[in-house]
Amino acid sequence: MTRELVAICDACKQPIAEGEGSLWVDMSEVERATVNERAWEQLEADHPERGVLTFSGESLQSYPDPARWRVHHYSCDSALDANSYAIEVDRCRSWADLVWWTAHLMGKAWLPQTD
Ligand SMILES: [Zn+2]
Repeated sequence: MTRELVAICDACKQPIAEGEGSLWVDMSEVERATVNERAWEQLEADHPERGVLTFSGESLQSYPDPARWRVHHYSCDSALDANSYAIEVDRCRSWADLVWWTAHLMGKAWLPQTD
């Protein structure tokens, strides 16, 4: 198998071997980011009654943070029981794998709520 990509654990900063970790995003964080974005649009949008949302540069400073993708060894993951969407590192080891996953994830309505 081609191994062009190395996954580095966010916690211990060491590479992750096959079967020892995953890339993941917490789906409750995704849900929170979605709710926060809607609330932000309600609060910050100018003239929403025209059906066109416009925002000032100042209001964009308070734009809510997206859910964060993380990379962890299973043994370093402090939130193993989180409601997560996870990709085992051995399923994303080449540039071709990364393109495949990117295309796959672009089919998920929640992807824009992540970083
Ligand atoms: Zn680790």
